[in-house]
Amino acid sequence: THVKVKDVLKALIERFHVQIDSMNIDLTLDCEDIVVYANRNHIETIFENLISNAIKYNVYDGTIRIDCHVKDQEMVFSVKDTGIGVSKADQERIFQRFYRVDKQRSKVISGTGLGLSIVKHLVQFYDGRIQLQSEEEKGTTITLFLPIVVKNVPEN
Ligand code: ATP
Ligand code: MG
Repeated sequence: THVKVKDVLKALIERFHVQIDSMNIDLTLDCEDIVVYANRNHIETIFENLISNAIKYNVYDGTIRIDCHVKDQEMVFSVKDTGIGVSKADQERIFQRFYRVDKQRSKVISGTGLGLSIVKHLVQFYDGRIQLQSEEEKGTTITLFLPIVVKNVPEN
């Protein structure tokens, strides 16, 4: 299927707006008009997991920046948050099934620890790559590179 990335993101953000508002998070979306060839549910699942983490592990009054553009024929999608961050030691483990950082703050936040392992599998399915950049108490940026772009269409 041809999926309009920006439309999917807008709908997802709408669904999260209660949580975003309750934490007074300032969210910005910067997305090119990209059409990708992929399964819509896969794309939604990837975005949903990364955005839900950026909210759950953020701080009150925090910010989230979602960016989506095309570079070298790949879709580059990133979610940057100002949350609790992930220590160097945990950075490779958080993509494992059921792994959750054993920190006071993430202990009280509910989750199964499956989200990122699913994201990793889906990204691999599309021959993509994941880049994680994080600093404790500062924030996290997850960037995905997915070679699924069909076209970069102008606004209609
Ligand atoms: P689920 O997504 O299944 O509801 P979860 O959020 O705990 O549960 P993952 O999304 O796989 O599971 O994330 C694994 C762990 O990585 C989290 O429990 C959390 O400790 C850490 N983590 C993930 N994203 C972030 C982030 N943006 N900032 C800080 N820590 C994060
Ligand atoms: Mg999660």
